Amino acid sequence: MKNNIISIIIPAYNEEKNIYLIYSRLEKLLRNYLDYEIIFIDDGSTDNTLNHIKDIRQSNARVHYLVFSRNFGHQNALKAGFDFSRGNCVISLDADLQHPPELIVEMIDKWKQGFDIVYTIREDDKRSSLLKRVTSDLFYKIINLLSDLNVKKGAADFRLLDRKVVDVLKKFNEHFLFYRGLVSWLGFKKYAIKYAPNERFGGKSKYSLKRMISFALNGITSFSIRPLRVSIFLGLFLSIISFCYGFYAVFMKLFTNRAISGWASVLTSVLFIGGMQFMFLGILGEYLGKLFMESKRRPNYIIKDDSFRENNKTIF
Ligand code: UDP
Ligand code: MG
Repeated sequence: MKNNIISIIIPAYNEEKNIYLIYSRLEKLLRNYLDYEIIFIDDGSTDNTLNHIKDIRQSNARVHYLVFSRNFGHQNALKAGFDFSRGNCVISLDADLQHPPELIVEMIDKWKQGFDIVYTIREDDKRSSLLKRVTSDLFYKIINLLSDLNVKKGAADFRLLDRKVVDVLKKFNEHFLFYRGLVSWLGFKKYAIKYAPNERFGGKSKYSLKRMISFALNGITSFSIRPLRVSIFLGLFLSIISFCYGFYAVFMKLFTNRAISGWASVLTSVLFIGGMQFMFLGILGEYLGKLFMESKRRPNYIIKDDSFRENNKTIF
């Protein structure tokens, strides 16, 4: 039987309307467990998020906070949560109540039965916008096609990880973290729970279309070099086609009196090949840029204030 130290980590970026509610719903559930900690990671909020968290800490010392010096993004906030958590298991969930806190009871039960990773699968939410649903569908399809991962559709960052998994994850210091892929890549004994997401309680989504595209591209290029290989095969294919076409043109010129005319076909093929070249230069650049960013080994986040140390110094 595992003992009961449970860590909850909650990234929060401008979530002032949600902090009290998520805390009270969690606290009701966690009361039954011997020991727990709730760590809020304030990812550079510009509203009252931090004040609300500090208020709660006044009345409950099990609530902790980490404050980033600026916005470092959701995945880096999760990393900070993993780095500072001390529980035998760590549960991550969003601050906006889209991930129903009540599910953690079942997650903990499964963990006690011996599962190392208890992750959740979001059932299709008819209320979320068509754009979000289509892009999310496409995202899981593309990432599974292009990488060797098998990320389940709807598997978000709402999961329980055993301490041994967290200790492994803490060793990953890559600049572009993508925990969904990493957790799927790690292995371990897993269990999936389905749930129907709620609507965001207060505030608005932090993932604009632009941010979602960049998140998806990062996910794909972090786990696969297949896009680079596509260029080899496409290049080969186009070379064979143009060789055949050239052969055909010479043949027509030498052996028939119908020389090939038509600048349109020349122009389209030149533009097509030019476009392809630019695209693959871009893909190449993406990987090169990643290499550049990784080579600098910058910290994933900078903490300017936290409730773990007495004298608050800037730590990495
Ligand atoms: N979040 C964060 N930093 C960011 C963006 C989001 O810590 O730069 C947090 C946010 O406060 C929330 C969670 O990550 O707790 C998920 O974000 P959101 O609900 O905006 O994403 P969505 O559910 O719309 O995909
Ligand atoms: Mg949300």
